[in-house]
Amino acid sequence: MKFDIDIPGIIKSIKEKDCKIAGVQFPEGLKRQAIRIAGIIEEKTGADVIISGNPCFGACDIDTALAAKVDMLFHFGHSQMGVHENVVFIEARSNVDVIPAVRAALEQIKEDKIGVITTVQHIHRLKDVCAFLRENGKECIVGKGDLRVGYPGQVLGCNFTAARVDCTEILYVGSGMFHPLGVAIATGKRVIAADPYLKTAVEVNPERLQRIRGGYIARSMDAKIFGIIVSSKTGQERMELAMKLRDIAVKHGKEAHILMMDLVTPDQLLNFKADAYVNTACPRITIDDAERFHVPVLTPQEFEVAVGEKEWDGIEMDEILDSI
Ligand code: SF4
Repeated sequence: MKFDIDIPGIIKSIKEKDCKIAGVQFPEGLKRQAIRIAGIIEEKTGADVIISGNPCFGACDIDTALAAKVDMLFHFGHSQMGVHENVVFIEARSNVDVIPAVRAALEQIKEDKIGVITTVQHIHRLKDVCAFLRENGKECIVGKGDLRVGYPGQVLGCNFTAARVDCTEILYVGSGMFHPLGVAIATGKRVIAADPYLKTAVEVNPERLQRIRGGYIARSMDAKIFGIIVSSKTGQERMELAMKLRDIAVKHGKEAHILMMDLVTPDQLLNFKADAYVNTACPRITIDDAERFHVPVLTPQEFEVAVGEKEWDGIEMDEILDSI
């Protein structure tokens, strides 16, 4: 995959702000570029550059310890989320042509009107996608989304608000199935996923995920002790929700304890003796890592079903909405 990153813009702002020491933070997929980019910045600006070695998965995850030590922190790969005094978000834009995948999707689109969504990597191609759809007789709707997303039409793994538009079909342009599956479940709409790298398009079927999540709920119904996970990451922390969930657990005769942690991994939970967990940190962890945890890890919504607070009516996606 090739990405365009605005390195001249970084150099310019370091010089303009007379930054003497800069931090750089990369998501996992871009870490192999870190040393090369840090070297270029040092050579062109004379500033010292410190590279964040911590894992990073989203704009929700600013290395605040590093930000406190540097004049400017450049966070790569994601659009802006929240306001941070000395953090600059440097988006990575894919230069792949998205139209072949959209062309593949065209014959699967049934309605005249379609909502279009994508991730920040392809957001600059959204106007081309809409122009292509219009040329082929489709009305294209781009939802604004809430303040957690940086652009109209942009979705995150924790936020599908841009897909809540007035139509029954959605076209997702991007790789991976998490986002389109999430949108299908969160909105109940028919979703076509067009992958620009594979140049293919498929209709998303959320049934298997529904069944799997139903299994985790069933396995948690007899749990006596719940661990409620809260992330300390800047854009993931939902302590208020965790407190509310603990009250619900107590109301239903369960023991519940709140665990605050930075990175949520199966290893981190191994030594705590809870029967099941509720994850209020990044919602992707609950779904993507489900099989790696030694006991069930539920979304807040699934937890409410498991303890009997609400009826099972198919799964709901856990989203973090406009919270920062
Ligand atoms: S909470 Fe998870 S899905 Fe949302 S931006 Fe952060 S890493 Fe991405």
